[in-house]
Amino acid sequence: MMNTVWTLLGNPFAAATQTFNLDHTLNFGSRMLVENRTSWKAPIIWEGMFDPDMYDRRHLQGQSSVALTVFAVGRYLDAYLKTFLTSAEQHFMLGLPVTYYVFTDLPEKVPNITLAPRRSLKVMRVEKHSRWQDISMMRMKTISEAIQSEIRHGFRYVFCFDVDQEFVGRFGSEALGDSVALLHAHFYKLPKNRFTYDKNPKSEAFMETGDFYYHAAIFGGLWGNVKRLADACHRGIAADRLNGVEALWHDESHLNKYFWVHKPSRLLSPEYCWDRSIGDRSDIRVTRLVWATKDYNNLRPGS
Ligand code: UDP
Ligand code: MN
Repeated sequence: MMNTVWTLLGNPFAAATQTFNLDHTLNFGSRMLVENRTSWKAPIIWEGMFDPDMYDRRHLQGQSSVALTVFAVGRYLDAYLKTFLTSAEQHFMLGLPVTYYVFTDLPEKVPNITLAPRRSLKVMRVEKHSRWQDISMMRMKTISEAIQSEIRHGFRYVFCFDVDQEFVGRFGSEALGDSVALLHAHFYKLPKNRFTYDKNPKSEAFMETGDFYYHAAIFGGLWGNVKRLADACHRGIAADRLNGVEALWHDESHLNKYFWVHKPSRLLSPEYCWDRSIGDRSDIRVTRLVWATKDYNNLRPGS
């Protein structure tokens, strides 16, 4: 039987196919001291392994486009959104068409940011839940709805970000893939028995063991894959609520369960989301995105 041979023009998955081919150029030997391939052969992207210009050229040729979703609800808007967006304009997927989908309960307070050509920003109103846990968890439902109603018509990739972070280095097209997960900065060196998965058998997020501990501050992929992830996590969250339970780390617990059952095709090293309070580590050769200071006393009053 012959495999279908796609022609470049008119194939909606052209860029994904090309990226897959490009991954044969990854230089795993350049990072021998870190885990850079999973047991199911997905690459874990570390500085030094990839040629950034080659990825950028391929994604430009393949007309890749990216929708970035970010939530800034309540006090998080003033605290973080401007830094997040202005720094993204300096470092996130430069050269590619990018639309920021900003979800907020305060649309009139979204800062006016100067955007580079082929980049745009769209504000979407969401309701403000009173508990921060609910604000965090409801993102899954909202992301799925936005993909369904509009993102799928205009973008090949969707990347979903926490707002409490700042881009400080290239976060480029090498991060794009079919289904992308991020290694959590606090857990990538720890043994599995230290991973904080949900351990309550009554929760849909329950898991006894897993592959890695993923950080819900970034996930992404082809829009169809991100929608399936968001739908599954939302279903888990809703089922838990009906059963009167809440997963230990909320949407992050459900995300970890999803990626245990549906293995991501690409992992990002913690270089892509580093917590500077950990201090310097020889395996973190660049920082691309860093955690902003967490001021929970002011941001989560009463919690
Ligand atoms: N968030 C928000 N307003 C809130 C709580 C959360 O906009 O009151 C959004 C915001 O994008 C934030 C994300 O939900 O980055 C996850 O919450 P948080 O960053 O506080 O979680 P943590 O990083 O501590 O796990
Ligand atoms: Mn966060």
